[in-house]
Amino acid sequence: MVKQEQKKDLQQMLISNGIVVTLGEKNKIIHNGAVLVEGEKIKAIGKAADLKKKYPKAKLINAQNKLVMPGFINTHMHLYSTFARGLGKAAPSKNFPEILKNLWWRLDKKLNMQDVYYSAILPLIDCIKHGTTTIIDHHASPNAITGSLETIAKACKKAGIRANLCYETSDRDGAKIADEGIEENANFIKKCDAEKNPMISGLFGLHASMTISAKTLSKCLKYVEELNSGFHVHTAEDISDVQDSKKKYKCGVIERWYKNGVLKEKTILPHCIHISTKEMDLLAKTGTNAIHNPQSNMNNAVGVANILEMLKRKVLVGMGTDGMTSRMQEEVRTAYLLHRINLRNPQVAFCEAPQLLLNNNAKIANKFFYGVKVGELSVGAAADIILIDYIPFTPFDENTFLGHFLFGIFEATVDTTICNGKILMQNKKLTTLNEAQLCAEALELSKKFWARF
Ligand SMILES: [Zn+2]
Repeated sequence: MVKQEQKKDLQQMLISNGIVVTLGEKNKIIHNGAVLVEGEKIKAIGKAADLKKKYPKAKLINAQNKLVMPGFINTHMHLYSTFARGLGKAAPSKNFPEILKNLWWRLDKKLNMQDVYYSAILPLIDCIKHGTTTIIDHHASPNAITGSLETIAKACKKAGIRANLCYETSDRDGAKIADEGIEENANFIKKCDAEKNPMISGLFGLHASMTISAKTLSKCLKYVEELNSGFHVHTAEDISDVQDSKKKYKCGVIERWYKNGVLKEKTILPHCIHISTKEMDLLAKTGTNAIHNPQSNMNNAVGVANILEMLKRKVLVGMGTDGMTSRMQEEVRTAYLLHRINLRNPQVAFCEAPQLLLNNNAKIANKFFYGVKVGELSVGAAADIILIDYIPFTPFDENTFLGHFLFGIFEATVDTTICNGKILMQNKKLTTLNEAQLCAEALELSKKFWARF
């Protein structure tokens, strides 16, 4: 009885009169379409006229002159990097190990718990503004570890964004801090798995092969097995990571992970730039997720991941931003251009670059949110929906969609963002967060942070 009554109370919202783009296994485009949301899920999709007749009491959201799409997913993010913006104090770095030492490993050590919260909430504003409704984040704050994931979860809940979180365990600051990282991951995963809140989940974070000893790895493996979880670990981002692995373990990074049982369906490996075709086959065989981060890789000048070969070999490759941006649309456009110039071949990446974001990120994210389906508009899927200002002036259908995405939609403005059935932005106005106030508070905090750097 109680359940039925609760169901009656669920609010219905009809997003109507837009062009519905469903994505999913078979992308369908419905002109004059509508999506009915009930509570946290999608209840119906179809022609606007039909759904209006069927659900006359639903609250109407007018999507005229807009696309109605699933929210975007970012499968590798670093919320903690926020206060680096404009920070000119790091010494010039000649290569990737120096970038880590001079910037990121100095920055993360200065973060206190209040910085962790503000570093998270600000990029979450950007997520909402640009239609990213799900993120998979990788966090570091070696002097504020315990409780850091709960702090970020608090920011995600406040913003209304769906998130998978982990702490980057590393031996770079000694055994005590490594152990604290291990505990933070294990406790957070346990708590999330007990609560089964489809908005927040955990993974086991490691920094990278070059900062994880055999001893620490074996400790982490024990936890991951017990918790039936997976790893989120930077892999072969720079050649130095591979050189370190070859020197210490006589094999490439992915081979090291394979031999130790790190590779699995729930494991996420950002970058995978310096890997062999044999290693790609190990990723495919184990169902491990590789994440492409083209803008970050270009920024750090570490190389170009061979995603075309990985896709050919049936590796599940997703797309992340590595903290460079919260706006997935520009990451896709970058990947499209990068792989064409890299191979001097104008016949590649047109399908592959969008596929990473629009298809594969959903397949990856759907492993982590307790059975909730994200990344597509379908009956029963999560109501993670965005409205984009876009009026096509050439024919717009399933066959022309990718061309529209790469040359038009990628730069179109997001008007409305809904996550888990909750409106986070409508008519470009945020509903959950006060941007001006949060920015002002963060500015005061970042000044102090910069003074400590
Ligand atoms: Zn990263």
